[in-house]
This record gives sequence, structure tokens and C-alpha cells, in this order.
Amino acid sequence: MKTLIQNIFSAKNEKYHKVITILGMKIKLFHPKSDDLYYCPICKKYGHFTQMGVKPRFAVKCPNCKSLERHRFLYFIYQKYFLNTQKQIKILHTAPEKCIYNLIKKNPNIEYTAIDISPERYSFCDCKKEDVTGLSFADNTFDFVISNQVMEHILDEKKYLLELTRVLKPDGTFLLNFPVFMNQEKTFQDDSITTPEDREKNYGQNDHVRAYGRDVFSRFKKEYGAKVIFAKDIFNAEKIHKYRFLNKGKDFCVIIQK
Ligand SMILES: [Zn+2]
Repeated sequence: MKTLIQNIFSAKNEKYHKVITILGMKIKLFHPKSDDLYYCPICKKYGHFTQMGVKPRFAVKCPNCKSLERHRFLYFIYQKYFLNTQKQIKILHTAPEKCIYNLIKKNPNIEYTAIDISPERYSFCDCKKEDVTGLSFADNTFDFVISNQVMEHILDEKKYLLELTRVLKPDGTFLLNFPVFMNQEKTFQDDSITTPEDREKNYGQNDHVRAYGRDVFSRFKKEYGAKVIFAKDIFNAEKIHKYRFLNKGKDFCVIIQK
């Protein structure tokens, strides 16, 4: 009972908390929506955006297609690279986001493959079971690999990067995104931290295995020739507001050319 009361108390103190779980039941407390209307380029609609996240971020989720700020930013990157392609191309998508899947599937020129270690989580598409550190695909198979919010779950970062690059065609492009603590210079990883509680405390989420700091960008440039594009590099303040990017440097895409 004490825990129950603590749960309710802490949830009510959390300004943007939306749902709490008590005895297995999900209870909706708040559903704050933005007063402002923001524009989602993915579903092409204006809406009052809602909150999202373990530490809730206010007004970031499109009420229609459920896109978050990073998906809306990646839409522009994917549009530049492949969404309207007239050529026949092959794309590999890890841990597929539904809003991005829906976009890609509109183009019949794209042969699309979705994969995840737990494919049952993705009932909206034909998702195959694959381990990103040991893929079953042949070398040089795909024109693009897209992988968002996966690398921070993988203990062997190098293997993940090498394996997803291996399956790219010689001129293929790897587009990835992952959480970075922009107020932290150095990436932190300690493999003796293994419990969900300790991972949450040290890395911000109970199934993350490291906390990336800003040094990841220079390291990836040096080690993989990666290019990094931030929302703030290509959009002015008006667009950043319109699409509801948070403009804290987190909405970015890392591009590795094979
Ligand atoms: Zn939308």
C-alpha cells in the first residue's frame, strides 16, 4: 500500500505524467496537449501535440501518426535520400517505427525489409527475426540501412556498425540515430552495470547499455567518416517551431557512406 501511495504521489508531482501502472492496471492521470498547433510533415496535418518519454517531453508527439520530433526530422532526411526514388532500391530497417514504415511503403520502387530481435513487437509489418550483430543477409545486399534508437541497446557497438555496413552495397548509405546526452562531453559505458535499475540510473533507460555524450560525433567522423546533420543546421527558428523540433541538438541523423 505504501508503494501504491508513493506511485500516485510521485506521478501527480510529475507535471507531464500521463499514465501510471497500479497492480498491472494502466491509469490515465493527465493527457496534456499543446495549446499551439504544430505541423507534422509525415501525416501532413496540424495538431495539438502530446507528451512522450520516460522523462516526459512536452508536446512532441503527433496525435495522428504518433511521430516524435526525431521521426519528423528524419522524414526530411529520408525524403532527400530515397522516399521518392524512381529507381528500384532495397532498404533494411531495424526496429521499424510505424510512421516511417508507412512512409516507405508508399513507394513501390522500394523493396523493404524490417528486422528486430523481437519481431512480435511489430505486428503492423512483416518483421523478420534478426540479430543486428550477426545478420543472415549476404554482403552488399541493401542500398540503405536505417537504424534508429537501436545502437544504445547493443553491447558490441563496433560489431553492430560493421555488420550493418557489411550488408550495404558498395555505394550504400547507413542512416542512424540514437540518444545523446548533449550536456555530457564523454560517452559513459561500464559493462559491470547490468541490472535494469542501475542501467536506468546510469544510462537513462533500463535497457540501454551506455550513455552517449557529445564525443560520439567526433569519434564517428574520425572512425567511420560519418557526417552528422542536426535539425538546427538546416531549419530556421520558425520551422523548428512549426515541426516542433526541440532545438536542443538531439534531432539529428548520422550518415555513414560505405
Ligand atoms: Zn503525424
